[in-house]
Amino acid sequence: MSAPDTQEALRSTQPERAERLFPTLTAAQIDRIAPHGRRRSIAPGDVLVDAGERVVPFFLVLSGRIQILRPSSAGETLIVSHGPGQFTGEGNMLTGRRALASTRVIEPGEVIELNREELLTLIQTDPELSGIFMRAFILRRMALIADHLGDVVLIGSMHCGGTLRVKEFLTRNGHPYDFIDLDREADAQLLLDRFHVTASDVPVLICRGVDVLKNPSNQAIADCLGFNDSIDRTQVRDLVIVGSGPAGLAAAVYGASEGLDVLVLEADSPGGQAGSSSRIENYLGFPTGISGLDLTGRAYAQAQKFGAQIMIAKGATKLACQRPPYDVQTEEGVRVRGRAVIIATGAQYRRPALENLSQFEGAGVYYAATPMEGQLCAGDEIVIVGGGNSAGQAAVFLAGMARRVQMLVRGDGLAATMSRYLIRRIEDNPAIVLRTQTEIVALEGDRRLQRVTWRDKRTGRVEANDIAHVFMMTGAVPNTHWLDGCVVLDDKGFIKTGPELSHDDRAASGWPLARPPFLLETSRPGVFAVGDVRAGNVKRVASAVGEGSIAVSFVHQVLQKH
Ligand SMILES: Cc1cc2nc3c(=O)[nH]c(=O)nc-3n(C[C@H](O)[C@H](O)[C@H](O)COP(=O)(O)OP(=O)(O)OC[C@H]3O[C@@H](n4cnc5c(N)ncnc54)[C@H](O)[C@@H]3O)c2cc1C
Repeated sequence: MSAPDTQEALRSTQPERAERLFPTLTAAQIDRIAPHGRRRSIAPGDVLVDAGERVVPFFLVLSGRIQILRPSSAGETLIVSHGPGQFTGEGNMLTGRRALASTRVIEPGEVIELNREELLTLIQTDPELSGIFMRAFILRRMALIADHLGDVVLIGSMHCGGTLRVKEFLTRNGHPYDFIDLDREADAQLLLDRFHVTASDVPVLICRGVDVLKNPSNQAIADCLGFNDSIDRTQVRDLVIVGSGPAGLAAAVYGASEGLDVLVLEADSPGGQAGSSSRIENYLGFPTGISGLDLTGRAYAQAQKFGAQIMIAKGATKLACQRPPYDVQTEEGVRVRGRAVIIATGAQYRRPALENLSQFEGAGVYYAATPMEGQLCAGDEIVIVGGGNSAGQAAVFLAGMARRVQMLVRGDGLAATMSRYLIRRIEDNPAIVLRTQTEIVALEGDRRLQRVTWRDKRTGRVEANDIAHVFMMTGAVPNTHWLDGCVVLDDKGFIKTGPELSHDDRAASGWPLARPPFLLETSRPGVFAVGDVRAGNVKRVASAVGEGSIAVSFVHQVLQKH
């Protein structure tokens, strides 16, 4: 008999949740799975999966019992055991990432084994099983995250920009980790000494219990955790999408679900700007709002369910756009090719021209307002710079945690730049002080931001305050620098598409076809631009999602011509 595990504990306290996490399939469901895989006998002691293994198969138990075990300093810790009708797997079955746990047989019997491709085919063709698997995989991954049952230990300080960056990267990629806070754990320094790292090397990331990475880049973390290992870089894809914010993810979901072979390149983490929003309240279908992380996390899983492959921390640096298939290159020399390309690289916050801004980024200056930043400024006074919807949302959200919110706006008011529902909430909130015609002029501090100075443009009065948190939400610039003349841009650097491209634009860029560009098509045939990066886009999640899906219908038309 196995030792008590998560499943047994859950069944006695929350039976319905246990059934969603660890369902037992019916005989009819098992019969539908069997033709997709192979039957295999199992004996006690057999290791079906080793923790860290790159290619993780799926097992359905027919008879006998298997255990899922997590490597730990004490040896191995039992997570759960599965008996007849139950199956293995969690979120990494969709992402194709390494196994976080081992699978070992404790009672003899028989299993059905499917490799990842066989499982994905089954998920795409059997809606009932797809629902059961998706729900179990996602809930199991969420449980691993909640219980910090990952293969990563992060050692750092919440007052260090690098630590915040790494935490955000792991969170947005749904990777469970343990965090050791140097400011709270008295013996953390001893741990650092054990690995011969100094305080200036933080954050330190212990990856899969083996590699010690000092202040690693997001790219180094993705490589160490094997985020992109299962992706074939050699084949020419139907569609390469650059960027995985809402626009890129929507294109991936529609493209892959309509049978296209889709590869997405993402410079950082999936979710884009929307992923950094604490609560999106105006997206259709979510009357009580949804956090950007939840919305984009679901879209990410959905794209993978349909078979789209998403390369993480691989930014495009060049588009070779002479003729299809188009080459998209990344800094590390990765080169992928697509018969059609969708550019969905969005925009990022403008960084005000303040002399020492970079010194305080992550150490008092932030560009996102999620619960993570909220925790950092609890009970303190904060400054928000900007008068757009994202600034308004941040003010309302952070006012729930901060002592006072100083909102600095360069214009005369908010009416021209912010939705009415947000303006009303700001006006009704006594914790928010709105300062119009005011701009930030200086930041001061030692290792962290300590003092902020602003100037009232009407009176010229300069005021300095002891404030340690500034949220910069000051309009966006498009991520188009990497395109290097490949497609026609407007005077602000946004990509022109469809009817926006004048006769002169087309002539100057050498548009080669008799037909004019499709809606959302750039000055290169088969290269589309969607979402915030596109000239004329309205900078909303809904429009990004809409454009991503519309572009796919034109991609089909372009591919039919080849
Ligand atoms: C804090 C905040 C709150 C917001 N709240 C709302 C709201 O409530 N409602 C609403 O409708 N809208 C809201 N918005 C706006 C909304 O998030 C954006 O309009 C939307 O995210 C745009 O989607 P996108 O996919 O076009 O671009 P983005 O979200 O900007 O995504 C672009 C992606 O491309 C990646 N990328 C960039 N360059 C490269 C490259 N060279 N190679 C590969 N990848 C690259 C980026 O890392 C990013 O992941 C908010 C924005 C912010 C910042």
